[in-house]
Amino acid sequence: MACHLPKNWLPLSPTTLPIQHIAIIGAGIAGAALAQELAVTGREILVFEQAVAPAMSASGNLAGNCLPIIDQRPDNPYAQWHWLAWQRAVHWWQQQPNREQLGQLTGAAKWSTHAKNLTAWRAWANSYPDSQVQWMDALPLAHQPAGLWFPHGGSFYPRRIVQHLLTHANIQLHTQTVINQLAHTGQHWQLSSNRGLFEADAVIIASGAQTALAFPEWGQVLQLNKGQVSHLPSSAWNNPPEFALSYGGYASPTPDGITCIGASFEQQAPLGLTDSAHLHNLALLNQAYPNALTTDALPTQGHSAYRANTYDHLPLVGPVIDIPDYQAAIRSRCHQPDTIPDLSSLLRPQLWMSIGHGSHGLTSAFLAAQLIRQQLLNQPTELSLTLQQAVHPARAIFRQVCYTKS
Ligand SMILES: Cc1cc2nc3c(=O)[nH]c(=O)nc-3n(C[C@H](O)[C@H](O)[C@H](O)COP(=O)(O)OP(=O)(O)OC[C@H]3O[C@@H](n4cnc5c(N)ncnc54)[C@H](O)[C@@H]3O)c2cc1C
Repeated sequence: MACHLPKNWLPLSPTTLPIQHIAIIGAGIAGAALAQELAVTGREILVFEQAVAPAMSASGNLAGNCLPIIDQRPDNPYAQWHWLAWQRAVHWWQQQPNREQLGQLTGAAKWSTHAKNLTAWRAWANSYPDSQVQWMDALPLAHQPAGLWFPHGGSFYPRRIVQHLLTHANIQLHTQTVINQLAHTGQHWQLSSNRGLFEADAVIIASGAQTALAFPEWGQVLQLNKGQVSHLPSSAWNNPPEFALSYGGYASPTPDGITCIGASFEQQAPLGLTDSAHLHNLALLNQAYPNALTTDALPTQGHSAYRANTYDHLPLVGPVIDIPDYQAAIRSRCHQPDTIPDLSSLLRPQLWMSIGHGSHGLTSAFLAAQLIRQQLLNQPTELSLTLQQAVHPARAIFRQVCYTKS
């Protein structure tokens, strides 16, 4: 049985002041999901985006897969977070009246060219009901591989989803507005930008891979990896996929006849489309799905962006701590974290974040938005304390101070 003792060094302090005006920095899927989640509660939301339009960075793909992560440790927070996040994303999609415009969560196939993976996945699938995941000896594809079928998995269209999420009377979007500094007056936050000063009762940082721009101390806990998807027209396929595929790489169909295949994973690479990343995406597909394509021609279209990863592959979601004071408070107690006194007083007043969604932001942005709404508005949450602390932003700073050799 997992232990659910509160950790003082990962404080979750209740909100005491009334919150009406909320500023969100970043209009990717994390920021947009938060904007919608809070706008429907009647709050006034200001969303700031440095680019000319929302969803130009990591959330700028035409389509991506919405699938759970396979992890056979049911008590592990990583397994729990990603499973619950997928459930939340599916639930969100099912509630949207125009859902066909936003994604197609009506089935996804997952297989592997490694027999060892398949054995483990089969055992994993047995612990869930058939309505969530099924083992199939022959998936409905031309080469009939054995693998998993997710009746509610599929493709999400992140650009369209972000636009949709930001469309609410209580949301005001400011594009080409770079937030470069935050200051708390004792009453509210002041946000400095290239377009002047803004004010809000609470601020949420959802700045993805560009977090270092305004928050260098948080940016440095993220690892950035370039990813590229390639666009294949339907003429490139013998049978264009009608549902999402996951095979080490992935193929996500869009409603416009294009399928996004991907995604490359490159460390320290500059942004921009490259032939080598297109080749990589094609090679993954050809290896897992022989004769899927009619042509070897390199794609010419696609999208590239940085993913913002964390050391434990969980996002940073929750209240923001004052880093220098926090470092000073924990430094001498690294080896006895349970003796650290309550550090709630080191939380910055009404400052929150949802960053570090890595390769799974299309699912995890929704659960993150729900959790921050519940924490910020003092609402009950179904997420255990253990899980809230597993995604707590301060854990990354704790690790830096206590586990990184200088
Ligand atoms: C090639 C590729 C393929 C992927 N495929 C999948 C997939 O199939 N399934 C999946 O679940 N996930 C996938 N991902 C991951 C997913 O896209 C990301 O996790 C998700 O989009 C992150 O969203 P975000 O809102 O955190 O960041 P972003 O989308 O990067 O948004 C952050 C926004 O903040 C803005 N910003 C930053 N700083 C400031 C500032 N100071 N002032 C104003 N604005 C600011 C940025 O301009 C940006 O628009 C993929 C990622 C890539 C790169």
